[in-house]
Amino acid sequence: MSEQYVQVAVPVPMRQLFTYQVPKEMQTPAIHIGERIAVSFGARQVIALVITVDTAVDDNCQIDAKKIKPISKRLNDSFHLSLSLVAFLKLCSNYYHHPIGDVFVQALPKLLRQVKKVELQPPMVWQKAKTVNDEHNEPLAKIATKAPKQFALYQLIAKHQGISWAELRTLGYSKAQLTALSSKTLITQSKQKPCQFSWQEQNLAQENKQVLSTEQAIIVAAINQTLTQFSCHLIDGVTGSGKTEVYLQAMEGVLANHQQVLVIVPEIGLTPQTLLRFEQRFNVPINLHHSNLNDTERLDTWLNAQQGSAAIVIGTRSAVFSPLHQLGMIIVDEEHDSSLKQQDSFRYHARDIAILRARQLNIPIILGSATPSFESLQNALSGKYQYHQLRKRAGQSNKAKIALIDVAKQQMEFGLSGTLKHEIKQTLARGEQVLMFLNRRGYAPAITCQECHWLSDCQRCDKPYTFHQKQKLLICHHCGSQKRVPKQCPSCGSIRIAPVGQGTEQLEQRISELFASVNVVRIDRDSTRKKGELAKLLQEITEKKHQLLIGTQMLAKGHHFPDVTLVAVLDGDGALFSFDFRASEQMAQLLIQVAGRAGRASKPGKVLVQTNYPDHPLLQDLVHNGYQHFAKQALVERKQALLPPFSFQALFRAEANYPSYPEKFLRVLTELTLNNCQFAGPVPAAMEKKAGKFRYHLILQAKSRKELHIAILQLLAAIPNNEWQNKVRWSLDIDPIDLNW
Ligand code: ADP
Ligand code: ZN
Ligand code: ZN
Repeated sequence: MSEQYVQVAVPVPMRQLFTYQVPKEMQTPAIHIGERIAVSFGARQVIALVITVDTAVDDNCQIDAKKIKPISKRLNDSFHLSLSLVAFLKLCSNYYHHPIGDVFVQALPKLLRQVKKVELQPPMVWQKAKTVNDEHNEPLAKIATKAPKQFALYQLIAKHQGISWAELRTLGYSKAQLTALSSKTLITQSKQKPCQFSWQEQNLAQENKQVLSTEQAIIVAAINQTLTQFSCHLIDGVTGSGKTEVYLQAMEGVLANHQQVLVIVPEIGLTPQTLLRFEQRFNVPINLHHSNLNDTERLDTWLNAQQGSAAIVIGTRSAVFSPLHQLGMIIVDEEHDSSLKQQDSFRYHARDIAILRARQLNIPIILGSATPSFESLQNALSGKYQYHQLRKRAGQSNKAKIALIDVAKQQMEFGLSGTLKHEIKQTLARGEQVLMFLNRRGYAPAITCQECHWLSDCQRCDKPYTFHQKQKLLICHHCGSQKRVPKQCPSCGSIRIAPVGQGTEQLEQRISELFASVNVVRIDRDSTRKKGELAKLLQEITEKKHQLLIGTQMLAKGHHFPDVTLVAVLDGDGALFSFDFRASEQMAQLLIQVAGRAGRASKPGKVLVQTNYPDHPLLQDLVHNGYQHFAKQALVERKQALLPPFSFQALFRAEANYPSYPEKFLRVLTELTLNNCQFAGPVPAAMEKKAGKFRYHLILQAKSRKELHIAILQLLAAIPNNEWQNKVRWSLDIDPIDLNW
């Protein structure tokens, strides 16, 4: 037997691979690329992933062959990554210039990142009890009339071969309801039988299928044409125009081919409704991938994907790394949403790498949005993607009308103009719901001294503290630090300290007073902190337990509220004057998305936007001509200014305790001569100081992605010689979308 060496990725933020020797006794059975093994790294034992296997030490390895350590252990389990997944992760690591070990961490569930042996229990699933006869069953007849939710749960379980608690919980059912059915011996729990998913005709619920409109049918046909090749489809259609119906019908062919489908949604809050729609159409194993699962459930999803027992995986961002081995189609819903981009450490965009993955596997990918990102829109307009539009709302509902309210000309009370108050009253009187949108959580964005105008700033960020009345605390929304509200002004001693401005918490209080006869609910990060709370509140809204809904951008995203007929945007001016070239794109998307919540069912909806600048061209264009017109105009401007998507950017961020360090570190980078690339900066970040650290930005821009890539390699190679590198923390963001921090 000959010598054997492996190069492995180790879960540390270092860019290189590490070489280990495979002792003779560990060489059989043959070691494979993608295998997880244990190695000693420093003083620790860590899990490493095999990237290459060789009979000699790689030429690039700088260690003397005799000093190479042996691997510690092979795990002899079946939790390997396929060759194609390893290749995909390497692609991601190269694209983002991110340490490969860190990329692999994303692709493994926590239990598989531990050296400890994984005690694998077969996943438990619920089934209808075999003894139950639906016809003559007294307990069943009783719950059918007395406990409709329990009955619905029973019907759902009865329809399935086995359904997991994670899925039931995501659909809004409770442990208590399960226990109740179980104690009546209507359902039982058993171990899930591992089996390869294979399609049968009865997996499709024909009765729920809609007859497609011509527009929809053309799209489905176009997608069907590309089932065996890479093709990126952008579906640009207003909320309610039938995008999801197109996804469902396009998936049929893939599932019928016994292949798997990956569905990526930007927010965990959107998984329940997506799951429900898919669940109603396909009776196939659906697995979930999101942050509200425990470690075992995550491992179950991972294994079900890997072994092929999952037909569909629905998940948030990191589901893009799901080890589906028969993947036949990827769908990215709400593709414009910035939550698809990870904003720390490995800063990948799930949409962009989903496209990489589809290309690698030679399968179709569908992007859907009512407000496509400029990147996708440009690719669609230039013919790189197949561009599909859905111009009308499906069924009977009509598009909501957007109107502006000039607040400068109105008496305001608690941030509400007279016109708005009047409209709210009328909507409530008709028994319909109102959504009020204010993108500022907390009680007030600052507190101030009314005598000397002292403002309560967070020392670590130089930004005002947000006042949270319920907790009686000042909280910095940038670094999370908290402090008590001072009784006296620290500057002049006055006791006239008061909140200024209005956040959602205050709005909720005022609105509850103003409209005392109806129920008000607030949905923001504070009110939904508890696990399961968001799902519960959304459910209550659907059940019309609340008439007035107050929310931040959390409420703007993709949720369906059929009885909301008035959407009020309290402060439409947020991003009109931002320095960030993407701010107007994001604001337009937000306004249109919020507007999309109105009038989904047969009732017409109305959107009112309060603004100080009703003549602002951006608002005018959006209101009169719609998102597409606005977006096309804005793309012309981007082209003239050579901004993305007409150029490519990378952002170097650096921070340190002193402002001079990050500045100098970045300045040294700009001294390198690069081909066809420009630097902008270094400049202080928009939030120059955060949590006590001073932050600087340096943007690198190129006309082609290739040139950008080459320049970055040169810059990275030069960093070890940068004299400031040990004094700063730096990071690299490819295709940055948030220049604020
Ligand atoms: P989107 O995903 O674009 O928001 P959906 O696919 O959810 O739109 O469709 C909105 C509503 O219209 C849903 O209730 C859906 O069942 C219905 N719908 C979609 N397509 C059709 C169709 N071809 N005929 C009738 N109703 C449809
Ligand atoms: Zn004062
Ligand atoms: Zn702070």
